[in-house]
Amino acid sequence: MKLTSGLLFAMFTIFTWAQSPSRSGEGEAIYTDARALYLDIHQNPELSSHEIQTAAKLAGRLRDLGFTVTEHVGGTGVVAILKNGAGPTVMLRTELDGLPVEEKTGLAHASKVRSKDDAGRDVSVMHACGHDVHMASLFGTAAVMARSKDTWHGTLILIGQPAEETITGAKRMIEDGLMTRFPKPDVALALHVGNELPAGKVGLGPGYRFSNADSLRITIYGKGGHGSMPNSTIDPIVIAARTVVALQTIVAREVKPGEVAVVTIGYIQAGTKNNIIPDQAELGLTVRSYKPEVRKQVLAAIERITKAEATAAGAPREPKIEHYEATDAVYNDPALSRRLEGVLESTLGKDNVVVEDPGMASEDFSFLTAQGVPSFYFSLGGANPAKYAEAKAAGTNLPSNHSSLFAPDVDPTLHTGIESEVAVLRNLLNGSTEDLRKSVSAGH
Ligand SMILES: [Zn+2]
Ligand SMILES: [Zn+2]
Repeated sequence: MKLTSGLLFAMFTIFTWAQSPSRSGEGEAIYTDARALYLDIHQNPELSSHEIQTAAKLAGRLRDLGFTVTEHVGGTGVVAILKNGAGPTVMLRTELDGLPVEEKTGLAHASKVRSKDDAGRDVSVMHACGHDVHMASLFGTAAVMARSKDTWHGTLILIGQPAEETITGAKRMIEDGLMTRFPKPDVALALHVGNELPAGKVGLGPGYRFSNADSLRITIYGKGGHGSMPNSTIDPIVIAARTVVALQTIVAREVKPGEVAVVTIGYIQAGTKNNIIPDQAELGLTVRSYKPEVRKQVLAAIERITKAEATAAGAPREPKIEHYEATDAVYNDPALSRRLEGVLESTLGKDNVVVEDPGMASEDFSFLTAQGVPSFYFSLGGANPAKYAEAKAAGTNLPSNHSSLFAPDVDPTLHTGIESEVAVLRNLLNGSTEDLRKSVSAGH
C-alpha cells in the first residue's frame, strides 16, 4: 500500500507540478490533507439535507485556501468562489450526502455512525455512493488551484451540493439563487466515482450520460365488494393487471425502434384479503428516457392507456396519476466532451481514458445545467485494480455504489480525481470567455 501510494504520488507530483517542480513538497502536503479530509468525512457521514458538519468542514477548508465562501445555499449547500483575473467562469460540483446503509466493508476507517432519518427511524449511515471521494478530490483540486494561480485565470466556483440522493439539493440551490446571486458559469463540471472502472482510469462520452427519470403513482378506482359476488363490483385488481400489461406496449409498439425508453412498474398494491374485492389499486412507476420528445411521448401514452383501461372496465372514476418526482437527463456538451477527452488523455495517458456507454441512472446535476450551462460529467474509476481484474476474470462484478461493501481504493482514486479535475480546470480557465463559449455547442 505504502509503495503503491508513493509511486502514484510521484506521478501526481510530476503531472500536477510539472510547471514548478520546486512546489512538489507542497503537492505532497495537499494530498495528505485531502486524504485526511476523506477519512474524516467517511467516518462521519450525514444523511441527505442534514449535511451540517460535512458542509461546515468543506466550507472551512475552502475559506482557509482563500475562497470566498457562502454557506446555507438551498439548505446546507456551499458556494466557494476564487477570482483570479479576467476569463471564463467554471463551476465544479461535489455532493455532500451519505446514505442510510450499514457499512460492512470491515475497513479500519469504516463508518459506525447511526442517525435518525426523516421518518424518525434509527438508521446506520455510510458514504456508500462515494461522495466523500468527490469532496476530498474537490478540496485537493481547490488547494492546487489556489496555490498555482499563475497556471490559470478566470473565476473558479466550487459547490458542495446537498441531498443528491433524494434529487432535491440541486433544485433547492438554484431556487436559492445559485445562478443569480453568484456568477453564472460558462461551463459546469462534475465527476462520479464507481467500481465499473479500476482506479487510475476515467470514463466519459459525448451526449447523454444519464437518463430523464420520472416517478409516477397511479391510483385506479373500482368498486369493492364480496369476493364471491364479482358481478356487484368493478374489480380494480383486474383493471390494474390489464393496465400493467398494456403499458408494456409503449416501448415495444409506440416508441420508434432505436430510441431509448424504459417503463417499469416497480410495485402494484391492492387488497387485504382473498375474499374481498378492494376499492382501489395503486401502481408505482419509474420512467426513463433520453430525448425530451420521447419522454413526452411515453408519459402521454401512460396517461392515455391508464385512463382508457379504466373506462373500458366501467370504473366509477378516472384514475389519479401523480407525477411526484422528475429529473432531467445528464448531457455532456459534445464539443466540450471531445475537448476534455483530449485533455484527460494527455494527463492520464490514452489507455486510462475510456469512452463509456450512457447509463439509465439519474442525477440531479442536470438541474444545474438545465439553466443553459454546457456541462461535462465524467466517471472516476474507484476499483482496486487487482480486485477489478480478479472479478473480470471470474465473470463477476465488484460491489456497486450504494452497496454496504462499496469501498473505493482511496489512494489511486483520489490522486486520479484531483489530477483530472486540475487538468480540466486549467484547460478551461485558460483563454477568453468568448473563446470558451464559442468552442462549446451549448444546449441540446
Ligand atoms: Zn448514489
Ligand atoms: Zn452518488
